[in-house]
Amino acid sequence: MTVRTRFAPSPTGYLHIGSARTALYAWLYARKCAGKFILRIEDTDTERSTQEAVEAIFEAMHWLGLEHDEGPFFQMQHLSRYHEVAEKLIQEGKAYRCDCTKERLETMREAQIAKKEKPRYDGHCRERHLPPTTHPHVIRFKSPTKGEVCVEDCVRGAVIFKNEELDDLVLVRSDGVPTYNFSVVIDDHDMQVTHVIRGDDHLNNTPRQINLYHALHFSVPIFAHIPMILGADGKRLSKRHGAVNVMNYREAGYLPHALLNYLVRLGWSHGDQEVFSMDEMIQLFDLGHISRSPASFNPSKLLWLNHHYIKALPAADLVGELAYHMKKENIDITNGPSLEDVIVQQRERYKTLHDMAQGSAFFYQEPQVPAELIEKFFTPENTSAVIEFRDKLNQLETWDEATLHQCLNEVVTQLNIKLGQLAQPIRVALTGGTVSPALNHTLSLLGREKSIKRINRVIN
Ligand code: GLU
Repeated sequence: MTVRTRFAPSPTGYLHIGSARTALYAWLYARKCAGKFILRIEDTDTERSTQEAVEAIFEAMHWLGLEHDEGPFFQMQHLSRYHEVAEKLIQEGKAYRCDCTKERLETMREAQIAKKEKPRYDGHCRERHLPPTTHPHVIRFKSPTKGEVCVEDCVRGAVIFKNEELDDLVLVRSDGVPTYNFSVVIDDHDMQVTHVIRGDDHLNNTPRQINLYHALHFSVPIFAHIPMILGADGKRLSKRHGAVNVMNYREAGYLPHALLNYLVRLGWSHGDQEVFSMDEMIQLFDLGHISRSPASFNPSKLLWLNHHYIKALPAADLVGELAYHMKKENIDITNGPSLEDVIVQQRERYKTLHDMAQGSAFFYQEPQVPAELIEKFFTPENTSAVIEFRDKLNQLETWDEATLHQCLNEVVTQLNIKLGQLAQPIRVALTGGTVSPALNHTLSLLGREKSIKRINRVIN
């Protein structure tokens, strides 16, 4: 059996961090099993679905690197298939047309609530055999009224639902658009999905879907319902807790790998291991170790992982993201050191690429040097040291880290001053601030011409 998983977002907004985790689990499981990962856009909520949301989902999935093998499929392009299946169910006496008005349903509902009963459709149209010409009408499923449905869930184990709790759910609305529970079953069957991995907010839908699988003689897939993500206050993670849009994390300077590593551990574990390469994630991920209880979102752990990957990944792998942030900051990187060299010097210092971009702007743009810093660091004694150093720099035959290091030391020794008395004013002149990589590295990356020009600018 080839494992086939899918991610089936509804395009009603950006990609939520919780959905990204669902997508990740489905993707990992497909990759681990050398199976296929399918992307299906569930756009049947025509009022709330938008093209922007579709694009936003594609963009976020692409940024995360969760590439699909099949799709994207759009449910609204398969309406005739849903109609065909609904018609077949009607023919077989397993579904029926219903023309109950909104008013009738509403009155029934209120009466049930008044009697403290669970609101449900009363089956009024079940045996009326309304013809296709009935206008308007919906199509309802003749849900079994007795017995139980057992959801064999990889995470929860067996979860039993009584059929009497389930309604004659609407399969096709009066405008011909299928409902989620109907289209999802047909698509998961048609796309030969073997493992349905999704949020446990859908667990209550699963018994209805299983009844439909049986009615259609479709084989039932394996289910894994993932517990939700909570904020620090124990409430379902939402905007109130901070960013929940995946792309906000890109803007804030996170790496996709750090976010994925963070998300994989949010609800799944492999012993105590916290750091997973992508290959390890794929090899080690399993459905059996998904936690049954909700996970809490912990921003400081995510930041820690981000810094870990900024330090640990090959610098070349970070260039693309840093370039993105440089561009966003309007920093033209064509004139200056390679981003790879900058990363090697800056990676210890910055936990996000957003901060690294801001902290590395001086390599490419002449900095504003604040008057307070000049006043503070360019004392008469320091200034003569700077001049001495500048004159030595002018005479250097080679401009590399070792030579620059030696040159700094010579001036410090010769004038019998502390390194800081020379290094800090130079740093201020070069960067406009007081933090930067070691001075010889900063000078070397900046190059002779820019370095001397900036030192002269402050001296003058
Ligand atoms: N469109 C549904 C959602 O976004 C998909 C649920 C499922 O995976 O079956 O919640």
